[in-house]
Amino acid sequence: MATIIYPAPIFGPVHSRRLGISLGINLMPADGKICTFDCIYCECGFNGDNQPKSGRPSRKEVADGLEAKLREMGAEGIVPDVLTFAGNGEPTAHPQFAEIINDTIELRNRYCPKAKVSVLSNSTRAHLSDVHDALMLVDNNILKLDTVDMEYINRVDRPVGTGYDVDKIIESMRSFNGNVIIQTMFMKGTANGESVDNTGDKYVTPWLEALKYISPREVMIYTIDRETPEHGLKKATKEELDGIRDRVIASGIPCTASY
Ligand code: SF4
Repeated sequence: MATIIYPAPIFGPVHSRRLGISLGINLMPADGKICTFDCIYCECGFNGDNQPKSGRPSRKEVADGLEAKLREMGAEGIVPDVLTFAGNGEPTAHPQFAEIINDTIELRNRYCPKAKVSVLSNSTRAHLSDVHDALMLVDNNILKLDTVDMEYINRVDRPVGTGYDVDKIIESMRSFNGNVIIQTMFMKGTANGESVDNTGDKYVTPWLEALKYISPREVMIYTIDRETPEHGLKKATKEELDGIRDRVIASGIPCTASY
């Protein structure tokens, strides 16, 4: 199975392991990937291998596309559980992200008021006031924190540019006052001959301390589920994920594991 580039601006509905019947909203170009990370496990491939030729969908294209799809689904009797901002990169990097969130909430309220609006973000722009305020409006503000170890982040999540500071990211996560879900990828295997196993105490214990400081509503942990551009990666086992999940729960934070 190859890595995936999603259609834009709307894809699915798909059944998500974590979210139910999910209608995807992809704010990146339909023919490539744009992300502020370049994760070695990204299901969309490496940034450099999938550079888009077209532009991002406009605010109007997103709203029109979403409304048309919700009408079509309604005619078929299908109601989404969730409208999920995800796809070929980092959704909050769209210059009109905040306006698009407002449009989406308005369409959700009109066509499927019980559906949740979820954003899957890598957190790199969550400190910006317009992005922060927009994320405060959504039902599931799901922010990535794979570890608090900068060496690991630079090797595995690979922030684009030089501005990434995990301490600032943690402060930004805490500033949501609990209106945040932390998502964390656990995996094993190697990349360039070095271990990328973040399931042991060295990584889990300080990550857990950061979680207590952030005080999120929930934590979602998961492992590799699709083809990855780096081929030496391996899934964390169910037992390892369950053990980490139980440590999070024991610290008083709800946590789910997807295998
Ligand atoms: S943050 Fe998400 S979209 Fe971006 S490179 Fe990592 S896995 Fe891919």
